[in-house]
Amino acid sequence: MAIATINPATGETLRQFEPLSAAEIEQRLAIAQRTYTEYRHTSLAQRASWMQAASAVLLAHKDAYGRLMTVEMGKPIQAAIAEVEKSALVCRYYADHAESFLAPVEVATDAWRSYVCYQPIGAVLAVMPWNFPFWQVFRFAAPALMVGNVGLLKHASNVPQCALAIEEVFQKAGFPDGAFQTLLVGADQVKPIVQDDRVKAATLTGSEPAGASLAAAAGSVIKKTVLELGGSDPFIVMASADLDKAVSTAVTARMINNGQSCIAAKRFIVQDAIFDAFAEQLVEHYAALKVGDPLDPSVTIGPLATPAILEDLEQQVQACVAAGGTVLYGGDRPTLLNTLDPALRAGCFFPPTIITDIPVDAPIASEELFGPVATLFRVADVEEAIALANATPFGLGASAWTRDQAEGDRLVHAIEAGSVFLNSMVKSDPRLPFGGIKRSGYGRELGRDGIHEFVNIKTVWVGDS
Ligand code: NAP
Repeated sequence: MAIATINPATGETLRQFEPLSAAEIEQRLAIAQRTYTEYRHTSLAQRASWMQAASAVLLAHKDAYGRLMTVEMGKPIQAAIAEVEKSALVCRYYADHAESFLAPVEVATDAWRSYVCYQPIGAVLAVMPWNFPFWQVFRFAAPALMVGNVGLLKHASNVPQCALAIEEVFQKAGFPDGAFQTLLVGADQVKPIVQDDRVKAATLTGSEPAGASLAAAAGSVIKKTVLELGGSDPFIVMASADLDKAVSTAVTARMINNGQSCIAAKRFIVQDAIFDAFAEQLVEHYAALKVGDPLDPSVTIGPLATPAILEDLEQQVQACVAAGGTVLYGGDRPTLLNTLDPALRAGCFFPPTIITDIPVDAPIASEELFGPVATLFRVADVEEAIALANATPFGLGASAWTRDQAEGDRLVHAIEAGSVFLNSMVKSDPRLPFGGIKRSGYGRELGRDGIHEFVNIKTVWVGDS
């Protein structure tokens, strides 16, 4: 895949970049190593002050950085600016809390003294996706740099200017040269980097094949990885739920980022008694969405990020219909294109779509649909809802709506996922761990757990002298 900025709303190629050569990669790895030997000894207070400065740089340039994201991957501009603000928040969160998260923990044993301390490990490689081009990177970088590690970023090839802007944020904030470097490289250049002795661990957010490939490369040289992969998150609505609230949240949960979020609600599992009312209200809300130029602040749905994503989604919608699904709303791309400004007709737009009646045992029923397409499933009771929610290889997040406490407890207990949100949509929050189980990956980002992924958890035992 070429490293380039191609505006997905217009199809226009705006900038192209040459991937780094082997010699340039070598130079950057050497800088990372050299910086680490000194950076690891900087105080937490010093790192916190740089991290606060990074937060300030982000906020000072939020409009420009937001615009960059929108132009590179099509996110609506208001959401892009909000993403810069959230990235600033995670910087402040770890600046404020790293010291307590990393404080040594005394443990009573038969030693004179025993304790656990947390030390940096070196350079950590982050392989990141385009869908949240700033947030995904900052939620890795803020804890990693606060620990005393140095960061290397291989960003998705369609967001190179975001990748360079992020490197600039850390430079402007005053971090030492080499504390955070962007490597403009293709996916085929990742293996030798992760296997280099100077790189101590890696994290990847993206698809299953990419995760498996990185983990295999790292595993062959005994290096730790954290993987945040895909999801086919259920959104369960029981008859006791507040229907209006459930429907309006369902639309946001499905449409966030033009439907391209790992934790977007993808399968709507609705109890029989309210199924028809839910479907009817969902259609009404869909009809109010505005598809168009994501730089226009009134637009709620922009284009998909790349022609490949569009092609995959179109094929998946066809597979839903071929399996017996009924298109309740949308689905017709040519009609949508006719309503758009002619300048947008070469863009990767797909209409907001609702599909029902897909047989639960059709393979497409459990796949991840990465775009503005909701699939609706009817269930008789909570046990059927749980069985269907769990009938997917993924286990990232789940949203469940009920006002019956026993039902809520049952859902929380039985759903196989890294998180369950009751009467709320699934979202990431700097204060809470984020990650999945099953084929959604392993390890956690954010919160106290996130900062402990890339540290040496050192046991210290002091005997009587
Ligand atoms: P992708 O193709 O896996 O790309 C993600 C990153 O991995 C990019 O930087 C890509 O580089 C790189 N990559 C691809 N193949 C690789 C390989 N064999 N070895 C090393 N690196 C490789 O993912 P995507 O399709 O763009 O992103 C969508 C997927 O990410 C969805 O499944 C979504 O659910 C998931 N996601 C998960 C989370 C989460 O937190 N769990 C968050 C966001 C997205 P190139 O761009 O150069 O190919």
